[in-house]
Amino acid sequence: MPTQSKSLHLPFGEDKNAPWYGKDILSVKQFAREDLEYVFGVAHEMRGMVERVGTFDLLKGKILANLFYEPSTRTSSSFTAAMERLGGSVIPINEVKYSSVSKGESLPDTIRTLECYADVIVLRHPETGSAAIAAKAAKKPVINAGDGVGEHPTQALLDAFTIFEELGVGEIDGMTVTMLGDLKYGRTVHSLARLLSLYNVKINYVSPEILRMPQEVMEEVAAKGIPQAEFSTLQEVLPQTDVLYVTRVQQERFENQKDYEKVKGAYVIDPQVMQAAKQEMIVMHPLPRVGEISPEFDEDPRAAYFRQMEYGLYVRMALLAMVLGKA
Ligand code: ASP
Repeated sequence: MPTQSKSLHLPFGEDKNAPWYGKDILSVKQFAREDLEYVFGVAHEMRGMVERVGTFDLLKGKILANLFYEPSTRTSSSFTAAMERLGGSVIPINEVKYSSVSKGESLPDTIRTLECYADVIVLRHPETGSAAIAAKAAKKPVINAGDGVGEHPTQALLDAFTIFEELGVGEIDGMTVTMLGDLKYGRTVHSLARLLSLYNVKINYVSPEILRMPQEVMEEVAAKGIPQAEFSTLQEVLPQTDVLYVTRVQQERFENQKDYEKVKGAYVIDPQVMQAAKQEMIVMHPLPRVGEISPEFDEDPRAAYFRQMEYGLYVRMALLAMVLGKA
């Protein structure tokens, strides 16, 4: 459920009674099933608007501070595009080394600074829990765009939206979702497993022994009554899989690079492997990929990972409109 609203100065035309007005988005744990229906409904409308008119003035005059302490292509540029498609503007801080962060400024002070100039802050940071620290310091809404190995809630929302749009609304229930690759350090799967536990799904985890899904996440999912099982080979579960969610081995999170060398290339999806899968299923990936899906598979209609990026634009448009009281 939404957390408590922050008290914002209320300019004309904003609905302070809108359910997500002034809220931070820090974790998927804030979302109940009906909240997802709401987000996906708004995202679906955003998709229609972009297809019909491209850009429109829902957030005209609003400013987003896009603060990235870790590399990003899709999340950063889709938040920028989302704000601009809604008629707002963006302060981009991608290279924190050129900001006062390189002078030793603390995260709370950087956040307090940016909120003097912006109406909403999107933050990516290498430390788990950093988004919550930023949100505590801020009077304006903070959106977590990835906090270390913690969570990546907007990615999980766009992933779930992708499943709905690709496989048909109402059909998540009864599905088998298989998560493959680096389940230990992959924050996207931590968020997605939690989010999917709001539906009646079955979740398979396929990973090398040293990259298993954290116990904490599995316990939370189990508490919702969701069947989960762990495997070391994909062959065991691929034929029953409706959604195959592939992840990159997160090299930058390994303490010992020798361990990375042992597991990098552990699984590769290619047309031959996919012969064992259903025809009516999708393959997703938060991207970037570094060899775990062969480009030879890209033309297969089941390859949903490029379409998934586009859905991210609509979900992020919806989230910005929601926290700024315009949806
Ligand atoms: N882009 C995603 C993330 O930021 C996935 C990845 O980096 O592998 O978590």
